[in-house]
Amino acid sequence: MTRAARLAVVWLLSQAYLSAQRPGDDTANAAAGVLGCLGCGTFMLIPLVLFVIQIAILIWVVKDSKARGMDGAVIWMIFVFLVPVIGLIVYVFSRPQGALVKCASCGNMRLQASAKCPHCGNA
Ligand SMILES: [Zn+2]
Repeated sequence: MTRAARLAVVWLLSQAYLSAQRPGDDTANAAAGVLGCLGCGTFMLIPLVLFVIQIAILIWVVKDSKARGMDGAVIWMIFVFLVPVIGLIVYVFSRPQGALVKCASCGNMRLQASAKCPHCGNA
C-alpha cells in the first residue's frame, strides 16, 4: 500500500470513531450542553483525550514498523487499534529489536543493524 492509502485508512478510522462519539454536528447545542453540565463536559473530554493518544500510538506503530523494515505496518496498526494496550505490548516485543538511526541518504529512521534502508534502499 502507498503512504497515501495508509493515511486514508487512518483518516477513515478517525472519522468513524469521531462520528460515533458525536451525537450531532450542532455546535451550539453541544456548547450549551457542556455549559449546562460541567460533569458531562469532563465526561465527554475523556474519550477525546484517549482517542488522541490512541491515534498518536497508531502513527508511532506505523512509523516504527516501517523504520524497522517490517512488511505488515498496516496490519500492526489495525491490530493495535483493535486491541489497544495488549496489542501495543505484543508489537513492542515482536518487532525486530535494535536501535534506530537516521538514514544518511534520505533522513528517515532505519534500524542500525539493517543491511539497507527500508525507505530509500541505500546501504
Ligand atoms: Zn534511506
